[in-house]
Amino acid sequence: MNRPWKRIDVKIGFTIMSLFLIIIVPMSLITERILTSYNVQQEHRKTNELAIHLITMMSAGDNINLDAISTMAEFTQVHVFVLDPEGKLAAKSKHHHGIGFTFLTAANLEQLRQGHPLDTEMRLNKENYIVAGLPMMIQDRFRGAVIVASSLQTVEEFIAEVRQVLLLSTLGLIVIAIGFTYLLSRKMSKPLLQMASATRHIAAGKLNTRVPVHSDDEIGVLARSINELAVELKHYRDSRNEFIANISHELKTPITYLEGYAQVIEEELYESEEEKKRYLAIIGSEARRLDRIIHDLFDLSKMEEGQISMKLEHVDIRLITAYAVEKVLRLATEKGLNLEVEAGDPPLFVWGDPVRLEQLLLNLLDNAIRYTKQGSIHVSILPSEAQVQIHIRDTGQGIPEAELPYIFERFYRVEKSRSREHGGSGLGLAIAAKLTALHGGTLRAESLIEQGTTFIVMLPRSQPSDLVTIATGHSL
Ligand code: ADP
Repeated sequence: MNRPWKRIDVKIGFTIMSLFLIIIVPMSLITERILTSYNVQQEHRKTNELAIHLITMMSAGDNINLDAISTMAEFTQVHVFVLDPEGKLAAKSKHHHGIGFTFLTAANLEQLRQGHPLDTEMRLNKENYIVAGLPMMIQDRFRGAVIVASSLQTVEEFIAEVRQVLLLSTLGLIVIAIGFTYLLSRKMSKPLLQMASATRHIAAGKLNTRVPVHSDDEIGVLARSINELAVELKHYRDSRNEFIANISHELKTPITYLEGYAQVIEEELYESEEEKKRYLAIIGSEARRLDRIIHDLFDLSKMEEGQISMKLEHVDIRLITAYAVEKVLRLATEKGLNLEVEAGDPPLFVWGDPVRLEQLLLNLLDNAIRYTKQGSIHVSILPSEAQVQIHIRDTGQGIPEAELPYIFERFYRVEKSRSREHGGSGLGLAIAAKLTALHGGTLRAESLIEQGTTFIVMLPRSQPSDLVTIATGHSL
């Protein structure tokens, strides 16, 4: 992290600056090129135009008006040379400083003699000149020529000035770009650096850490996700602590019983064989309860970690309900409860694990029987087009409305002592809710105190293509 090129703000800054340079530098170079070539071209055009003008004047009369040419040359600050039919110097403008006619090469002269115009640049007397020459041809014969040499000094001075301005403005732009890049990269990287530090704090267990959310873009979404993660982690940690506290509490009670009654028997503190048998029965039932709690806990944690193996197939939920009802029938009858089923005939398929679905229904039926003193348990299956609802209604003690939202939590009991008395693990509904969710369904409860409770399992229906296969993987 301390290596500067690895820092995000340096990387962002470098990228933005490179982009700026890629734009600014070529733009300045192109501007300089365009201005230079435009001005030089203009100068060429002017020089050639003057040469045309002069040759037109010469062609108009046989007498070359040298004075007029000289004046024009002075006026336009150029050098004019007039050649005779032999290619010798016939006249020249007066004001030229040391520029002789000799700058023309033999090839240049020959070009003119052949009737071709001359348009070139030359270095004369340490100055650059545009040299334009036009031959005067009469009936295809060379009758003389006009050479105009125009200095590029003014243009070059102008170009130098332009270059200077361009250079200064480019440097100015680069300085502005550096400032802008610095601010922008700081602004862009700040939330990322904040998030990096927040996640380090969260990882170190400071789960109240929050990242400020400044925007609605991807960075904002990320910041929000980190905050949500922190909340989730806190919730997870708190519930885990609570869970561990609950487990120890739940296990403590049966163990205390086991220890107590074992001691009574060990020290022979009972008065009759009858009493001894009663104590042994308590030890047996507490041991079974412990076993059930441990088994349920194990099941639940496997489900929560997504490690539960499910053998999914098209399951006839009517058949599974019938199996489950059959299993608890004896229990209900022993308690004097009426167990009624209203299921209909044709198979109703859901995509699920038959064993787990039966476990889900057994948990609900078990509770219904356990928390109902008299009356009946009514099971009905209500299919709709996409779903199937299983209602398990009892005429039991009911659950207070305020407690309804919590009954699916682990170890939540409406009446702690009474549930224990009934031998429940406090995990039955948590397991049932998890199993329903694993099957893509929902589980809810409606209840009226002293009137009864209805648990409603809603599962999505499946459409097996081959209706003959009614695989339940189950034996009665
Ligand atoms: P337990 O092993 O205690 O029954 P559950 O998770 O199965 O644990 O149920 C949680 C609590 O919900 C129970 O302790 C009980 O108070 C309440 N409960 C569940 N089913 C019923 C029902 N059919 N009627 C009344 N109360 C119920």
